[in-house]
Amino acid sequence: MENCLFCRIAAGDIPSNKVYEDEQVLAFRDIDPQAPTHVLLIPKKHFANILEADSETIAYLHGIVKKLVKELGIDETGFRVVINTGEDGQQTVKHLHIHILGGRSMQWPPG
Ligand code: 5GP
Ligand code: ZN
Repeated sequence: MENCLFCRIAAGDIPSNKVYEDEQVLAFRDIDPQAPTHVLLIPKKHFANILEADSETIAYLHGIVKKLVKELGIDETGFRVVINTGEDGQQTVKHLHIHILGGRSMQWPPG
């Protein structure tokens, strides 16, 4: 998808701070981190959102989440996985992405 920001990041046309990459997925630091650890995990193939994605892709992403949280050192302290979807979900980039947030308490409201 030519005009998709995350497709362009996946293709390497736009630089990103990568934490993991293989043939199917890319994980990179969020440009506007909401926690000490804030990584975005995307499939390289374009899916607009989780409703458009197939179960195999989601299963693969799940495996990568498990691996990444260990590598990022947040598997024991805990973390939050978020998939914003659609308008009410406040999804701003229309390419499926999983937010992995950790390194602080996710208490809401903060404090
Ligand atoms: P959404 O709101 O769609 O769930 O999340 C999009 C995320 O992408 C936001 O957290 C935003 O900070 C991040 N983001 C937007 N543009 C860029 C970019 O060019 N590079 C990186 N690394 N993150 C971005
Ligand atoms: Zn895309």
